[in-house]
Amino acid sequence: MYLFSDIASMLNARAEISTDGQVRRPVFDTRLIVDPEGAVFFAIKTETRDGHRFIPAAYEKGVRYFVVSERWQVPDNFRDASFIFAEDTLKALQAIAGLHRQRFSIPVIAITGSNGKTIVKDWLGQALSFREIICRSPRSYNSQIGVPVSVLQLKENTSLAVFEAGISYVGEMGRLERIIRPTLGILTNIGAAHQEHFESRIQKLDEKLKLFTGCKTVFMGSDDREVLDRSRDRLKGVELLTWGRGEDAELRLLEDRAEREKLIVLGWKGRKISLEIPFRDRISVENLLPVVLVMLYLGCNDEEIKRQVRSLQPVAMRMELKDGINGSLIINDSYNSDINTLELALSVLEQNQNGRHKGRTLILSDMFQTGIEDRLLYPRVAEIISKKNIDLFIGVGSKLSRYAASFPDNSLFFTDTDDLLDSLGSISFKDSVVLIKGARQFRFERLVERLELKLHSTVLEVNIDALLNNFRVFKKKLKPGVKTLAMVKAFGYGSGLIEISSALQLGRVDYLGVAFADEGVELRQAGINTPIIVMNPEPRSFALMLEYGLEPEVYSYRILEAFNDAVNTFGNEPYPIHIKLDSGMHRLGFYASDGKELISRLKKMPMLKVKSVFSHLAGSDEEKHDEFTLDQLRLFDSFCKVIEMGLGYSFIRHILNSAGVERFSDYQFEMVRLGIGLYGISSVGETELQNVLTLKTYVSQIKEVEDGGTIGYGRKGHVKQGGRIAVLPIGYADGLNRGLSNGKGMVRIGSTLVPIVGNICMDSCMIDVSDINVKEGDEVVVFGDSPSVMDIANALNTIPYEVLTGINRRVKRVYYRE
Ligand SMILES: *Cc1c(COP(=O)(O)O)cnc(C)c1O
Repeated sequence: MYLFSDIASMLNARAEISTDGQVRRPVFDTRLIVDPEGAVFFAIKTETRDGHRFIPAAYEKGVRYFVVSERWQVPDNFRDASFIFAEDTLKALQAIAGLHRQRFSIPVIAITGSNGKTIVKDWLGQALSFREIICRSPRSYNSQIGVPVSVLQLKENTSLAVFEAGISYVGEMGRLERIIRPTLGILTNIGAAHQEHFESRIQKLDEKLKLFTGCKTVFMGSDDREVLDRSRDRLKGVELLTWGRGEDAELRLLEDRAEREKLIVLGWKGRKISLEIPFRDRISVENLLPVVLVMLYLGCNDEEIKRQVRSLQPVAMRMELKDGINGSLIINDSYNSDINTLELALSVLEQNQNGRHKGRTLILSDMFQTGIEDRLLYPRVAEIISKKNIDLFIGVGSKLSRYAASFPDNSLFFTDTDDLLDSLGSISFKDSVVLIKGARQFRFERLVERLELKLHSTVLEVNIDALLNNFRVFKKKLKPGVKTLAMVKAFGYGSGLIEISSALQLGRVDYLGVAFADEGVELRQAGINTPIIVMNPEPRSFALMLEYGLEPEVYSYRILEAFNDAVNTFGNEPYPIHIKLDSGMHRLGFYASDGKELISRLKKMPMLKVKSVFSHLAGSDEEKHDEFTLDQLRLFDSFCKVIEMGLGYSFIRHILNSAGVERFSDYQFEMVRLGIGLYGISSVGETELQNVLTLKTYVSQIKEVEDGGTIGYGRKGHVKQGGRIAVLPIGYADGLNRGLSNGKGMVRIGSTLVPIVGNICMDSCMIDVSDINVKEGDEVVVFGDSPSVMDIANALNTIPYEVLTGINRRVKRVYYRE
């Protein structure tokens, strides 16, 4: 905790301080601010956003301390706030973290490498918590912003710190090193691929090693000779301790019986240590070795190591959103519990509240290793919760129970998870958003399991982070000031109207587009307040559209006149409309020749305001139509000029869809309309896009097929002699197109593509697993990264749009963020 004025002097920066006070943590994203108390807002400029734009929002949320750019002008109405002016706000944050770090002379472990950083960090935290008070980076906070935020969490009583550091450019690691100043280092591994910004694997390694230049000891694998030799070369004077399978490793994996017996045997200084481990997979064994090595180095004895390793918990990094029983929505954050991630989780809860989910419920366990005394901690938790208007608070654990008096009267307390499980049936979660957040030892995943809705074993997973990534990728292609409209018609291309729209609203999309008025109404009822255009408005729904503030596409005189009548009857101020030109698609829209007539009618309609004029391209994704597309673009441009002249005012112009943005970037006008691209499908093979949707199912049964046996309706399917099939609970009624029958389509189990055999049935299908090792219950990917939606569309001779929108609504959608 520092005084705000201390921070100004630490930075040696100009400040305007209206009231000085204690500050305890930096914030950047106004959406995540729950408790303004003690928060300093750092207005940081990144490639895609400028934090200064959000200062008013932060102020509105109650933040009064700001670190801003020297060039920023303080508006008059912010006089009760205090400001520090820095040349570079990110560097200022890093500098403060660096100075804060210097006040501690404790062991500080820094972890870097290509994979496994977060797991190794969290496992070290779990493994050493019995003897240390540990400060570790939350989640995977390892960036230029994440590292200083993590380091600032060092507290008076911290006895060991574990931070991860990640980089994507040459030159970045030096800055992180100066903030973390590690005394010990762990290099998890160096992946074979060099990322886009590095020329080679060795260049990437060299950059990472800069983290360790001031370390006493660095731990790394010995099996990758190239990495080890290079590191020896580069880190002169630093002790290297190694783990590995090979002979010369200091900590050597002698026997790997993980897969069958959950057991490994290690060799260390001439003795053997056998460890019972709580997992079977190879990757986890790889990640465990550095953890054990550090424990040995820090002087843990064999008994302690055995005990701590046995109770390691898998690290889940996703906060999952799932449909729950009784109309509820479950946010599963049952993997960690501390005060920082509580605030983050509460803001996720807030973001997911909408018209359908009215109540807010929080189930929270006792917290451990927060570094704050209980008598301060729990009242503070209660305060945060009361600010967040939680309707029902459920506390689990003896500590929370002891502080029950600090919490709202209707709160419920249970001494442990079993206790709560027994009472779960009597608590109503109807239509609530339920945030489930607990320390690992409470095993809250059992609550999630009970509250989760289980309808059908096929799910469509929707990766919201990938969606937002794709949105950003498209935004980066736009000229400054160009707006975005996201088309969310057809249930958001099959992935969920409300969830997709909420996410895009958070990503600050300017407009949403739906096909029909009722979709727009549904969005409004769910609390979406972004402007919405209805593409196929019908006169019978005009009153409803006015009531919900939905803006029509006007494509004919009939619609124009009828909408004008409706506005004159129900409205009391000019209402926005969007004029659609048919520039060659021959779908809805005016012809360019209608220009004059249209202007003369619009001029007599003072209650209508042309907000935008737009058109749609018929072949923007195919080179063979480029001539035609250019004709459409030119026609549109000249039509807009005519209308603008005639009306005497300007409006937003938009014509590009996703492929248009990728291929006809000169014609962005004032807005573009994004659709399929948001789901990761590109017309130019854009590699920065990520897959958003994964359709998954499970093996319900495996059976041998007798010689000559046929499979499915029409007896079309055959397997080779002695072959086997697996039955999957997904059929054409779910959206698995029957055209994929008889080997046309493939699904994936593990890394193997497996052909569909025989005709697809209504609710199930069969696949040929003669050559692979599967068991009942195994996961099967129908599409996702591989096969991709594109692969399926190609097999069916159709387009990805049809595959996505064909997935039946009965398939449960599961939303998650990484
Ligand atoms: C669906 C639609 C879009 C989006 O097209 P994509 O090819 O999915 O990017 C844009 N504009 C209109 C009018 C649409 O109907």
